[in-house]
Order: sequence, then structure tokens, then C-alpha cells
Amino acid sequence: MCNLKKGKVYIVGAGPGDPDLLTVKALRCLSLADLVFYDYLIDDRILSFARVGAELFSLGEPYTGRKLKQVEVNERMIIAARCGRIVVRLKGGDPHIFGRLNEETNALAEASIQYEVVPGITSASAAAQVAGISLTDRRNASAVALITGHLSYEHDPTLPALDFKSFASFRGTLVFYMGVVTVKHWSGALLDGGMPPDTPIMVIQNATFPNQKIIKTTLINIEQNIKEENIKSPAIVIVGKV
Ligand code: SAH
Repeated sequence: MCNLKKGKVYIVGAGPGDPDLLTVKALRCLSLADLVFYDYLIDDRILSFARVGAELFSLGEPYTGRKLKQVEVNERMIIAARCGRIVVRLKGGDPHIFGRLNEETNALAEASIQYEVVPGITSASAAAQVAGISLTDRRNASAVALITGHLSYEHDPTLPALDFKSFASFRGTLVFYMGVVTVKHWSGALLDGGMPPDTPIMVIQNATFPNQKIIKTTLINIEQNIKEENIKSPAIVIVGKV
């Protein structure tokens, strides 16, 4: 039964994994939640901050084991908020970075549901921190590009393709999210675009988790190194002089 209390959806960044990297606001939202929808990378220690009695709903793994389609997640959030529930939509890292944020906020806005977005620490920052590097350096990297390796346009021609030729000559740091499976494609495209084969690269798997793994390699060797070291998702790849 719905009650008349006013519901609200908080779309909350959970950070890269380590619960210490949650924001105070994220913690506050979790402590208020009636219902939490969470992504596959969210650590149990973070879920344990949810209000006692809150309902926790896993959305499964993206692309492989997704339990609900995006429109179904939107519908459930809308129904719950209309019933007066406080909904927390907990997303890995920062919802603003490769987090399908607009798809959710547009649906909530269209349904006239009150919502608020709480940014989080994105995995690129966390990966740089654990690798001991800075994503920018005024001597050699005054710009950073955050790039998805999930090359959706390969399957959907209506989506814009990435311009690897411009990335190859980018004067700054390239950070690839979701780049493990597609390493052959993007590293080959950067080499074809003229990026030097000895460009330094760091790969950071499971940044801030106890099982994190860091490898140092170069553009020409990355595909082989990822295979040899058995690097799996989630991993961040940082390309450039920094
Ligand atoms: N919104 C998230 C990114 C979602 S896309 C953020 O801001 O971080 C999912 C990708 O994020 C993964 O494929 C991986 O590239 C990266 N990622 C997320 N958590 C990570 C972690 N702890 N260590 C390394 N990479 C991570």
C-alpha cells in the first residue's frame, strides 16, 4: 500500500570500492534509504551502511547478467518514489562518468519524481592514487580524456564513433574505462593513429580493493601483458607520460 509521504530518488556515487572513499552525503543517503538498487561492483561493506530494514536490490552485472533492463529500473524507481519511499540508486564511482545518468534522470524528470544526484570518486582518480601517479602534470599533461573502451558504436551505428586519430596525438593523459576486453581494438587504433609504441601505460585492476593489481607496460606490449597477467574487468588503463 502506498502512503502519502513524499518519495525521492537519490542517485548516489559509491566511489571505487573502498568504503572509506564514500562521501559523507552518500553515507547520509544510505542511512535514509527504504530501497537501494545497486550495481555489481558495489562492495558489501558499503551496502552495510544502508538503514536497517532497507530493502537491497542487486541489478546484476552489466551486459552479461543484468537482471533488469534500464527502462525497468527506471519504472521501479518511479513506482517506489510515488509510493513515498526513499530510493537510493547506488552506482560505482561517480554517476556522471559512464553511469547512464541521463537515462535515469530524464525518466525521473518526465515522471515528475523528485531526485538528487550525489557525485562520487571516479575510478580514474582512485586508480591514479593507488598507482602513485597524478592524471595531470603541468610539465607534460594539461588535459585528461576519459574514454570508454566499451565501443557501443560497433554494435549500434546510430552512436557516434570515437576518433582515435585525435586521441593518438592528444597532448595529455588518456584514461580508458571498460578497456580490457577491447584492448586489441583501441591499442591498435592508437598505434595506427601514430602514437609512439613506447608510450607508457599503467593498468590498475580492482583499484582500492584488497586484491588490487597494478601493471606497468607500453602501448605496443599492452595487449600481450593484459593476457599474460590475466587482467580482468574492472580495470582502468592510464596512457601517457604522467
Ligand atoms: N561510474 C564509474 C564507471 C562505470 S563504468 C566510475 O566513475 O568509476 C565501469 C568501469 O569502471 C569498469 O569497467 C572499470 O574500467 C572502471 N572501474 C570501476 N571500479 C573500478 C575499480 N575499483 N578499479 C578499476 N577500475 C574500476
